[in-house]
Amino acid sequence: MTSRIYYTDAYCRRFEAVVTRVFEHDGRAAAVLDRTAFYPTSGGQPFDTGRITPHQGGTFGSAIDVVDTIDVDDDVVHLLSAPLGPAAAVTGDVDWVRRFDHMQQHTGQHVLSAAFDRLFNNRTVSFHMGAELSTIDLAQEMSWEQIARAEDEANRVVWDDREVAIRFVSSEEADTLPLRKEPVRGGVLRLIDVKDFDLSACGGTHVARTGAIGAILVPAVEKFKGGVRVTFVCGARTLRTFRTLRESVAGSVRALSVLPQELPGSIERMQTEARDLRRTLKKFQESLAAHEAERLASHVVVEALDGWDANGLKLIATTITSRTSAAVALFSTGSPVAVVIARSPDRRVDAKAVLGALIERFGGRGGGKADLAQGGGLSGNLADICAAARGLLRGSPGDSIP
Ligand SMILES: [Zn+2]
Repeated sequence: MTSRIYYTDAYCRRFEAVVTRVFEHDGRAAAVLDRTAFYPTSGGQPFDTGRITPHQGGTFGSAIDVVDTIDVDDDVVHLLSAPLGPAAAVTGDVDWVRRFDHMQQHTGQHVLSAAFDRLFNNRTVSFHMGAELSTIDLAQEMSWEQIARAEDEANRVVWDDREVAIRFVSSEEADTLPLRKEPVRGGVLRLIDVKDFDLSACGGTHVARTGAIGAILVPAVEKFKGGVRVTFVCGARTLRTFRTLRESVAGSVRALSVLPQELPGSIERMQTEARDLRRTLKKFQESLAAHEAERLASHVVVEALDGWDANGLKLIATTITSRTSAAVALFSTGSPVAVVIARSPDRRVDAKAVLGALIERFGGRGGGKADLAQGGGLSGNLADICAAARGLLRGSPGDSIP
């Protein structure tokens, strides 16, 4: 059973200990010491990291990193970057920056939870400490105005610099005390006592006076399981959160050339403008599309040309189809009517089929290929013949409009 130094002294960051067991845990080198200041993950607070330096008879070996600390039954197990030799004694060094940050967040959580509890009778259901942000889940919903009041109250207690004491009591004694939360286990209880403000059972590490929390800030709140999830930061994290916000506000203010307090209105105006522009753009696109469709359709050329014979018509038609993407039907005005149907290589209309359809309706004869067909002897009203040709060229299935 490991003796836990942090239970009574959260500020111990260097300690001497005797190695009681070295082994492998899930494929990783592990060690148990007779006593430790390393905190194993529990109660919402993450594990400590640091180093263990073995020594024997005044000779020090090289330091081994403690990469994780876990609770296994009654022992604190240190997971190591390399196996520890058969050293009898070690010096342990806890990564203090990481641990002190955890102490600030954890004590801040007690104070903030107590503020919600005292002001609004709103119970903390759970607590999670993240690498950058931590959360408290509250049983009931809270307005931003209420959040701000709890934030004020919590910071007032921080700036009072109240003592945070550790007390050990029996569960019978605990029953007589005004604990914020019913303890989950019996036996001897470890209580964290924020002077005249909060008393709760907790196994974590805390600062000795509330002033060390620095400041408590709630950057975000969201609805969660009928209550709210309150995101909070304490200590150096408050400063980092402020800097992040300052940078994004400064960047936005620069980009929009407005004062910070004008940002919301300014963004709202821009959104309205963007919406109007999108609407206008849509109208223009529709109108442009109509024009474009007309332009593409005009690449169907149907003309009756005066004074040209079949060869002339053929020359004109192939000149058009070689220079543009077009389907062309040219007719002579004399009687009987001569006709040339041609199309560019990128058009799929079948010139021979179009000619065939015209002949079927208006008589005459002719032939050719898919890209060029010619004929003559068509009889009928020239306007009707042209209209039929236009219909055939436009309506040809499979003709792609580029
Ligand atoms: Zn605690």
